[in-house]
Amino acid sequence: MAKKSARRRPATGPTTEPQVGPASPCPCGLAASYRACCGSLHTGHTTAATAERLMRSRYSAFVVRDAAYLLRSWHSSTRPGGISFEPAQRWTGLEVLRTTGGTAFHTDGTVEFRAHFTVRGHAHSQHELSHFVREDGHWVYLSAAEDR
Ligand SMILES: [Zn+2]
Repeated sequence: MAKKSARRRPATGPTTEPQVGPASPCPCGLAASYRACCGSLHTGHTTAATAERLMRSRYSAFVVRDAAYLLRSWHSSTRPGGISFEPAQRWTGLEVLRTTGGTAFHTDGTVEFRAHFTVRGHAHSQHELSHFVREDGHWVYLSAAEDR
C-alpha cells in the first residue's frame, strides 16, 4: 500500500532530531506516552518484562536514536562496537506479527515484526524474526533472521 504522508513541518533546514517528546504517543505503537512506555526503559527506570516489550523498546530507540540503549539491550556475545543511524531514515511504524516464548516464564523467545520507514520520501519496510534471550536476568536481543 503506497502511503503518502502530509508534510508536517515547513522545510526550514535539515533536521536530524527525532520528533518524539516525553508526552508524544510512544513510537512503538502501544497506547501510552513515550515517557510512560519505552521512555522508561530507555532511561533505565523499568526493565522489559517480556521479549516483545524489549523489542518494542528497541524499535523506539531507533526512532529516538538512543544508541546507548540499543547497545545495552544487545547480548554481550553479539553486540556490535557501535551503532550508526542512517540520517535519511525515518521510522514510521511497527507491526508485531507473532511471538513465541519470551514471557516471565521463559528464558528465550522470538518476535516477528515488520518495521516501516521512509528514506527521502520512499516507503520501505523491514521484516525480521528476532531472537531474544535473558542475560543477567534481563531480556536482551541476540540475533535476527531477516526475510523480506
Ligand atoms: Zn513504547
